[in-house]
Amino acid sequence: MKKQQTVQKKASVSGIALHSGVRCTVTVTPAEENTGIVFRRVDLPGQPLIHALASNVADVRRGTAIAENNGVVFTVEHIMSALNAWHIDNCIVDMDGMEPPILDGSALGFFDMIGEAGVQVQDAEAKTFTPTEILYVEDGGSKLVFVPGEEDLRISCTTEFAGCPFNPQFHEYTLDTDTYRKEIAGGRTFVDYKDLQQLFAMGLCKGGSLDAAAIIHDGAIICKEELRYDNEIVRHKILDLIGDIYLTGLRVTGTIIAIRPGHPRNVKLAGMVQKMFAEKMNK
Ligand SMILES: [Zn+2]
Repeated sequence: MKKQQTVQKKASVSGIALHSGVRCTVTVTPAEENTGIVFRRVDLPGQPLIHALASNVADVRRGTAIAENNGVVFTVEHIMSALNAWHIDNCIVDMDGMEPPILDGSALGFFDMIGEAGVQVQDAEAKTFTPTEILYVEDGGSKLVFVPGEEDLRISCTTEFAGCPFNPQFHEYTLDTDTYRKEIAGGRTFVDYKDLQQLFAMGLCKGGSLDAAAIIHDGAIICKEELRYDNEIVRHKILDLIGDIYLTGLRVTGTIIAIRPGHPRNVKLAGMVQKMFAEKMNK
């Protein structure tokens, strides 16, 4: 039987948020059994709690945003990915702004913050779940297939990025705390130059810089350092999917086959799994 886990003590990370350009501090705090992952906006009156669940997703256009109790938190996917990788079931994530820092565009900073906080094993049984049937989400050229399986969460992912020299990219990964940092956490956010111009025009991406993302322009990748992996884009897609699927509030197992995944499809799949689990519990 796998037991629920929380963090041992508080730990924080600070930096500039990608879209708002505002400085934000994120702090992970221990939480009781069956709390789940709950964001807390400590900068707002009444410090609203926002449960990290697919049913609370408010926006998926530029990252995954969740809202509840008149509080909203944008771009939760990288911190959710790190929490999933550590198998943290219960945690209060304090934020003094609406969007966590982008850091270097990867999940390394969040993964290391949780490592610093340490993992505390609790008494209650962890909520593990695999779908009771194969699930599909399809939208244009994007497709997710979730095949049930009892052991681990395997992700088999392929993606293309317009104008990118390394196309298509493919990677397979089985979620595991010991390998996540080396194989997935370092994958950085990629932005298309054309999209970037649009984001600037919308007043977004104020915190964007080459410290926070790699930019693809006319078939070239512009970034501050060398690529961390030949297939860094698809590894980042897996990172995002590990974060979005954790909006089920469950440790899901099985194999997800992902073709050009993105937040709208990822969140839809998480919602289907969350609903399926709730129906099973109500029977
Ligand atoms: Zn991402």
